[in-house]
Amino acid sequence: MERVSTIKELLKNRKLKVTTTRIDVLEHLMSYASAMPYSLLQKKLKNTDRITLYRTIKTLIEKGLIHQAIFSQEETYYAVCSNTCTHQSHLHNHIHFKCNKCLEVSCEHLKKEISVAVKGLQISEVSINASGLCRKCSGLN
Ligand SMILES: [Zn+2]
Ligand SMILES: [Zn+2]
Ligand SMILES: [Zn+2]
Repeated sequence: MERVSTIKELLKNRKLKVTTTRIDVLEHLMSYASAMPYSLLQKKLKNTDRITLYRTIKTLIEKGLIHQAIFSQEETYYAVCSNTCTHQSHLHNHIHFKCNKCLEVSCEHLKKEISVAVKGLQISEVSINASGLCRKCSGLN
């Protein structure tokens, strides 16, 4: 229950109307340990029609509440943003890592900040994908 009130607060802070679908999407993403594949999110929200879900995700991305990681055309992953993201830009100090063995995708924070600057460009989003073996699968944990 506590999470729902946090979510409501988040939505209000971004001047978004509180809707069941918005709450549901955020709640599922927050309770999922890694980045959630779209197919799974769809399964969890099977009573929500595709268009509503699609629009909800689009709005939440635009408002800086969630972000996506795209590893292939077939599968997109979603994760919640930290409060450094706004409606203008997604500034993630992390990369997306996909494990080739268990196929989990996670947001991995970097030791050093990434800063990408290109003359004449206004960069609002940087996304870096990496793959390999996760801590669990490499047995190094
Ligand atoms: Zn973000
Ligand atoms: Zn793994
Ligand atoms: Zn991420």
